[in-house]
Amino acid sequence: MKIPFSRPPIVGGEIENISQAFENGIHMGGGKFSKKTEKFIENEFNIGKVLLTTSCTDALEMAAILSGGKVDDEFIVPSYTFSSTANAFALRGMKPVFCDIDINTLNIDVNKISNLITNKTKAIVPIHYAGIPADMDKINKIAEDHKILVVEDAAQAVNSKYNKKYAGSLADLGTFSFHATKNYSCGEGGALCINNQNYFKRSDYLLEKGTDRSEVVAGLKNKYSWVDLGSSFLPSDLLASMLYTQLEKRDLIMEKRKRLHSAYVDLFKSIQIDEIKHILIPENVDPNYHAFWILLRDETMRNNFFAKCKEYNISSYIGYVPLHSSKMGIKVGETRESLLVTENISGRIVRLPFYLMNDDEINYVYDSLKKILKLIYK
Ligand SMILES: *Cc1c(COP(=O)(O)O)cnc(C)c1O
Repeated sequence: MKIPFSRPPIVGGEIENISQAFENGIHMGGGKFSKKTEKFIENEFNIGKVLLTTSCTDALEMAAILSGGKVDDEFIVPSYTFSSTANAFALRGMKPVFCDIDINTLNIDVNKISNLITNKTKAIVPIHYAGIPADMDKINKIAEDHKILVVEDAAQAVNSKYNKKYAGSLADLGTFSFHATKNYSCGEGGALCINNQNYFKRSDYLLEKGTDRSEVVAGLKNKYSWVDLGSSFLPSDLLASMLYTQLEKRDLIMEKRKRLHSAYVDLFKSIQIDEIKHILIPENVDPNYHAFWILLRDETMRNNFFAKCKEYNISSYIGYVPLHSSKMGIKVGETRESLLVTENISGRIVRLPFYLMNDDEINYVYDSLKKILKLIYK
């Protein structure tokens, strides 16, 4: 058997909806399925306004423009994240100031944010690692005290809840990813979630290539023109139709992912190697089961683990190279305080394969990993 690290989710009904979108004859963005999907996300996840985009990266770029940040302004971001979280703001000339993470969740360490704030700080950009939301109440409180914007990079957390509220609804702005490696996919896709009404109007301009076309569509004007910055951020209605299918059946997908999560939890309970830490779900979180990470003893142990996985045809993943130690992070970013947890975990974290596995695959992964871990830790 061969176990990839990830596989795009398929729930059934995608092809029918794509055909429908094709027949509708509106293949560009903003068609029936796009509108339906945006409304669906707004209603189900209680988000003020949702705009579909071609990626989470694009949604982050929109958020960076909305932040009003200019060259030399700063934003605070965990070093342990994907490049896009920082890159979107760096494109505006803004400087990433890297923050350490919490050892339990691997999310931004809320106790280390305040020290990094200066009069140039424009935004705090936490991510919800592995689908577990960051401690947003504390982050929002700090931001309020300093009057700065919060953008939640909720790429991994679509359908996760924090204190019974959905990711994407937890800050001024939020971003989702519908990339093929995420829980709900249209291949490449994303969304900008806007909860602060001050950004409603401008977000439409950004999406409409910097024009006020949305006001013509709404019947408020009879011609549109160039009024702001913008780009072509919107996806084809064909993609929206695929996404809609998966979001409608989001709980079915989540239940399947939960089965794999439970199998992994069971595996680590049964091998009783206390030294191996794994993802834990905080009490105030209802997760979407995006990913399962473990921490091994050290980098040598991790190398042993990967070598064995290869023999069993199982693909695992090493996680992120911390941004503060990456080529671009060093060039444009700033590390003001030591990032001990980030450095401690980045060499020994493993992300286990995670997708909609069937029973045979789950059993194979379970049995193989049990053998491998017992062998390397004996
Ligand atoms: C996947 C991911 C992104 C990028 O998503 P795209 O839709 O591929 O642009 C950004 N941030 C985080 C935290 C992610 O996991």
